[in-house]
Amino acid sequence: MKAILYKGRNQLELGELPTPSPAAGEVLLKVHDCGICGSDLHAVQFGLGLKPDCVLGHEFCGEIAAVGREVRGFETGERVAVLPFASCGECEHCRRGQGYHCAKMKALGLGPLPGAYAEYVACSAASLLKLPDRLNSRQGALVEPLSVGLHAVKRPHLQPGTPCVVMGAGPVGLAVLLWCKAMGADPVVVSEIAPGRRELAQKLGASAVVNPREYNPAAKVRDLCGRLPQVIFECIGVKSTMSEAVGLVDKCGQVVVVGVCMEPDQIMPLQWIFKEVTVHFALAYSRADFEETIAALATSKIDADSMVTDIIGLEQVPATFAALSRPTTQAKVLIEFPH
Ligand SMILES: [Zn+2]
Ligand SMILES: [Zn+2]
Repeated sequence: MKAILYKGRNQLELGELPTPSPAAGEVLLKVHDCGICGSDLHAVQFGLGLKPDCVLGHEFCGEIAAVGREVRGFETGERVAVLPFASCGECEHCRRGQGYHCAKMKALGLGPLPGAYAEYVACSAASLLKLPDRLNSRQGALVEPLSVGLHAVKRPHLQPGTPCVVMGAGPVGLAVLLWCKAMGADPVVVSEIAPGRRELAQKLGASAVVNPREYNPAAKVRDLCGRLPQVIFECIGVKSTMSEAVGLVDKCGQVVVVGVCMEPDQIMPLQWIFKEVTVHFALAYSRADFEETIAALATSKIDADSMVTDIIGLEQVPATFAALSRPTTQAKVLIEFPH
């Protein structure tokens, strides 16, 4: 089968691998769509312990092409989304539904288990969620990034009418925006420097969008509702954005750090103390977040289609990674396989 192989830092190549056969408890999935994630970009840029010839890709859906021994309840031809990690299922974290904190957790597509930048991928049956017919496969590939947004929006205390700022309108910021709106947060102001991404945020329902170099997003919230923002979602993840977040939030407000900054950053504790800010960090998602996302897409509680800005073929992946190191108009890029 064709796959994109990681060859070393900043090096991806189209290559051939043997098609995997599903072990006991696994299915073989024919990949339909797989998203390119900011984590994939980070991983290729920094290495992050990736072994040569490993396969990335953890935001995907596909159709079951073969079923391994001891698998019950799944048949060939069924379409599924996949929780992209395997965990023990028994420890305290797993029992709480936080398998991503399990000490035995193995990431699929970002570490030891091969991912879906390939025509086929073997997945544990325990990680599968069936897709209703109402969802197409592009929407199926959005379940993972949307679940990241849902998980983040559940971290703070957020009610209908809570004024919020979302910093950054990349795929994570856009997913957070969609869920903020779905939960009734109002107004939701999105702060983003790239004009193309500001347009997307507007299309996806932001109350207002601002270029933070020209207009203070907290002032925009106050213009709209007379209050300062109570919750700031930091969805950029570069140096100094945490400090910008605390600068925007109201006293006794909340900051949710979703963006992943890959280098040491400085904060001024006094600033956080003076405002008595509560800070939350958000990582990944639970199976329940995936289920809620699938249900919300199936009932049109959220409409995420505009998040997809580019559909590419597998052979275009290396060039696309280079382009995404300086994104301008792209939000979610999907790799699509003929199906
Ligand atoms: Zn991701
Ligand atoms: Zn566990």
